[in-house]
Amino acid sequence: MEECSLSCADCGSAGCINSTGNYPAFCTTARLAEGELEEALAAGNLPENQKVLKAAARVEYEGYCRLTRVEETMDFARRMGFHKIGIATCAGLLKESRTLARILRANGFEVCSIACKAGMADKTLVGIDADCRAVGINMCNPILQAQHLNRLGTELNIVVGLCVGHDSMFCKYSDALVTTLVAKDRVTGHNPAAVLYQVDGYYRRLLHPQGGA
Ligand code: SF4
Repeated sequence: MEECSLSCADCGSAGCINSTGNYPAFCTTARLAEGELEEALAAGNLPENQKVLKAAARVEYEGYCRLTRVEETMDFARRMGFHKIGIATCAGLLKESRTLARILRANGFEVCSIACKAGMADKTLVGIDADCRAVGINMCNPILQAQHLNRLGTELNIVVGLCVGHDSMFCKYSDALVTTLVAKDRVTGHNPAAVLYQVDGYYRRLLHPQGGA
């Protein structure tokens, strides 16, 4: 496996946005394997993928800095011709999901939703250590959430506050395309980017995991 010492996350120019010519020496574009870009473009030109990419680009272009994420999600669904929307929600964010369902329905969509704790299966049934029951007896069940929405035939599934890892499993098992509206972060009020903006301030400890200053 090729080593990744410096890559896009270390780049300060983002010259790739408009091919400005301002690229770092380690530019990822220059380090792509032979045929790597062509392979991705071929996949992007498959009719089912091209439809998604074109719709997403129109949403970005026409809603740029104007539409909220909720509006963009509905715009994307409309452009894709989706009517039946799934909500895979955290049981702790039912109020937010109820509001989302209200908005979706007011805009003509059909909504099917399922909470992470639906099925009410004890955590230990899938081998989770019993001490994890201290923060809730029943397991989050993202596989059930996905399979349930698959059975109902939802055309786009929206994630509302699924935990780290549970969201991964939901994406793995969902038949429909998945988009995230709320990323769970119990500490920041579901705004994980707050840590990134404040890593030289309130969250400095994350840069010093051994307890240094
Ligand atoms: S592709 Fe090149 S220019 Fe773009 S972010 Fe990555 S390193 Fe920077």
